[in-house]
Amino acid sequence: MLGKSIFGVGARARLSIVLGLLMVAILPPAAVAKSARAIKVEWQPAKPLTGAACLLKVTAPARLEELHGKWLDHEIQFDSIDGGRTWVALAGVSLATKPGKYPLDLDGKEVPAPSQKARQRQGTQGDLTLSKKVPVFALKRKVIQEKQLEVEKKYVAPDPETLKRVAQEKEMKTEAYSKSSPRALWSGAFARPLDSVVTEAFGVRRVFNADLHRDHLGVDFRATPGTPVLAANSGTVLLARELFYEGNCVILDHGQGLVTIYMHFSKLAVKEGDHVEHLQKLGESGATGRVTGPHLHVSLQWKGVPLDLLSLTVLKLPEFQ
Ligand SMILES: [Zn+2]
Repeated sequence: MLGKSIFGVGARARLSIVLGLLMVAILPPAAVAKSARAIKVEWQPAKPLTGAACLLKVTAPARLEELHGKWLDHEIQFDSIDGGRTWVALAGVSLATKPGKYPLDLDGKEVPAPSQKARQRQGTQGDLTLSKKVPVFALKRKVIQEKQLEVEKKYVAPDPETLKRVAQEKEMKTEAYSKSSPRALWSGAFARPLDSVVTEAFGVRRVFNADLHRDHLGVDFRATPGTPVLAANSGTVLLARELFYEGNCVILDHGQGLVTIYMHFSKLAVKEGDHVEHLQKLGESGATGRVTGPHLHVSLQWKGVPLDLLSLTVLKLPEFQ
């Protein structure tokens, strides 16, 4: 289902046409042309959730050269699926966002008309701006009371040497993320990286005592060691190496600020800089890094905001030509 909003259509459009005809004598042609234009803003799912991915779709009345947006304090990079009329961007909502309505501010530039006369009709190089409120609803999260942390001692209280390594790896990841593509590298629907049971969902909060809790910011899949792990969509490998907490890890850039992160591999099948296709094998699952047993942990991030991978795999997404 698409949440829908149509501007300047129906009664309002008819009214603006009437007004336009009345004003044609007193206003320059550009103002009349603009008042009759319609732009459509849609989103998927109809009720965007905190901690979830969503698709923003804009249909412009004329061909655009580019379309930018801003939503929830993040820049949105739209890409066109049809050469300039229909624009899409993947985005997401952080778990910390309060439910409410948040303005999506759009800013587009029309393709210049071929002739001088047509350009005059088009106005001042057809700048297209619009603000549309998009609602956000709260995700229901599971809270689990825990008696103790079930990880090896070296992961709970790392020694100074290890802390240094962790700090270096953090920098390495930041460096890797900085190479991500603003343009979409994804095309079509995202898939689960393996066909298996989810053993722990995204957003589960484990509470140890009043002051201590840990949020599960990924999805755990049951996976016996050696199970092939596949790319959720096409993209570029930003990082493929062994890290302290993540174990053998692959970070895949899908563009538009979206990355998927796969952890605890026994074996890697890709290297940094590789372009991978939808469902290409990234490696084999294992139990490396901070784990209590073999499984696949997959994280999804949009511009550094952790999101539920399974909220992305259920979206019906268009293919780029
Ligand atoms: Zn996990």
